[in-house]
Amino acid sequence: MIVVMKRGATKEQIKHVCDRIKDLGYRPHPIYGVERTVIGAIGDERGKVRLQSLESLEGVERVVPILHPFKLAGRELKKERTIIRVGDIQIGGNQFVVIAGPCAVESRDQIMSTAKEVKKAGATFLRGGAFKPRTSPYSFQGLQKEGLELLAEAREQTGLAIVTEVLTPEDIPLVAQYADILQVGARNMMNSPLLRQLGKVNKPVLLKRGMMATVKELLMSAEYVIAEGNSEVILCERGIRTFEEYTRNTLDLSAVPMLKELSHLPVIVDPSHGCGMRSLVVPMSKAAVAAGADGLMIEVHPNPEEAYSDGPQSLLPEQFEVMMKEIRRYLELEGKHL
Ligand code: PEP
Ligand code: MN
Repeated sequence: MIVVMKRGATKEQIKHVCDRIKDLGYRPHPIYGVERTVIGAIGDERGKVRLQSLESLEGVERVVPILHPFKLAGRELKKERTIIRVGDIQIGGNQFVVIAGPCAVESRDQIMSTAKEVKKAGATFLRGGAFKPRTSPYSFQGLQKEGLELLAEAREQTGLAIVTEVLTPEDIPLVAQYADILQVGARNMMNSPLLRQLGKVNKPVLLKRGMMATVKELLMSAEYVIAEGNSEVILCERGIRTFEEYTRNTLDLSAVPMLKELSHLPVIVDPSHGCGMRSLVVPMSKAAVAAGADGLMIEVHPNPEEAYSDGPQSLLPEQFEVMMKEIRRYLELEGKHL
């Protein structure tokens, strides 16, 4: 339920409403807008009618239900867009972020040279998996701790912040020591123990859409993280499975404006996994800008032929540089900047 406070409601009145919400067994989420404060009362759906009684409290204008199941990720409670800050980078505002790097961290040379190249071309973040969620147990699973250390070294050398995946709740403390943003992969989007645990972390979470997940399911997964206290969630469209066979997945760009309509969270697009083909990455990146994305995630590898994973979809550093030049023009049209 949403408790809409009257314009000019006092701090004491707001606090009293929050206390009453707690007494009723719900969690208060006050949102202080320019005009007025609204307080979300979040908790068990059953028995929420009891919250209606708050309407009689001083300073309360009305109590209305939140219609969508994603209470905190949705826009009913919070209309203003969420801007996530990492150092001096802002995700979700007018700045457009580009997260670039190899699928997996493979060696010091590979990650250092990629980091330098993508930095030179204007990337905002360095990506690289240290823990890899592979379809086969016999495929390369990542350098793990050593991979994280190499990412940290690359950050030191280039100043690029790090985005890397965490696979299990147990790995969170280790990955959070090194990462600036923790990535949840498509295969883990519905792993609620992992999501809940990430809700207790003090770092942003990049949540990738599951390959068989609807937009609503993606938002419900974001809800798991936010409900535990971490409101810094970035949504990522990375393609879904359809009957189309030429592309690895079908990049659902309509999900971008859809998510922006339904949610206040930033949305980025990963055309590398979305299409699985190098030649489609640049055109789909431009389309993502036009669709209103807040950023891109792009796989770049110095030698894609030798890549341990996802070589066919990885751009060469020089191709990435051209891409960055090309998208600048599209960003200008959208009133955004790198
Ligand atoms: C990745 O980003 O390297 C990755 C494994 O992506 P996804 O989870 O979208 O398949
Ligand atoms: Mn990959």
